[in-house]
Amino acid sequence: KRLILIGPPGSGKGTQSPIIKDEYCLCHLATGDMLRAAVATKTPLGIIAKETMEKGELVSDDLVVGIIDDAMKKPSCQKGFILDGFPRTVAQAEKLDEMLQKQGTKIDKVLDFAIDDSILEERITGRWIHASSGRTYHTKFAPPKVPGIDDVIDYYNKKGVVAKLPAEKPPKEVTIEVQKVLS
Ligand code: ADP
Ligand code: ADP
Repeated sequence: KRLILIGPPGSGKGTQSPIIKDEYCLCHLATGDMLRAAVATKTPLGIIAKETMEKGELVSDDLVVGIIDDAMKKPSCQKGFILDGFPRTVAQAEKLDEMLQKQGTKIDKVLDFAIDDSILEERITGRWIHASSGRTYHTKFAPPKVPGIDDVIDYYNKKGVVAKLPAEKPPKEVTIEVQKVLS
């Protein structure tokens, strides 16, 4: 399976992805995590990305597409992948399509972790550090908006591959819904 997870921080992506990953033997490619690791180990890419990331801006499409292209060649991605944090722009989505087209494959499903800001607030208020990624939050809640992400969802809606999940429901119910969508 070739999947994309879309949803704001706190919507449950990190909770569901290990379950999906194990069930379908997929690799989990989270661009934010990969970029932070590149910065921490001072790889050439990391050195380029560092300043942009510190400003909270998106790194260039070429850089992030390159990272994904390389990562997908890993043996662990042979049976498919879960993309998390990518694509973040329509340009990235188009480049991803080109990349997959060359391999004769395509995205099977986009899992949209749709959730109300008020529920997100309950989940992440008081959470200073996002355990899995190391992201930090301010104590005063501001919904973590991802600019441009609606356009990305639109892009995949036109292809008819988006499954909207009831991300506000308990984790087990979300898992059941994911399994239904992927079966
Ligand atoms: P993300 O990876 O999208 O940022 P997480 O999976 O890390 O989200 O979840 C954020 C927080 O919300 C965690 O504390 C997690 O335990 C909790 N959580 C995740 N899914 C649910 C759910 N369906 N219902 C209630 N709380 C959840
Ligand atoms: P955030 O910390 O904004 O919730 P991530 O952990 O996914 O999101 O990403 C951390 C940083 O890595 C982003 O602020 C951005 O600079 C960079 N990044 C991650 N994914 C992408 C992407 N698809 N396109 C461009 N930049 C990205």
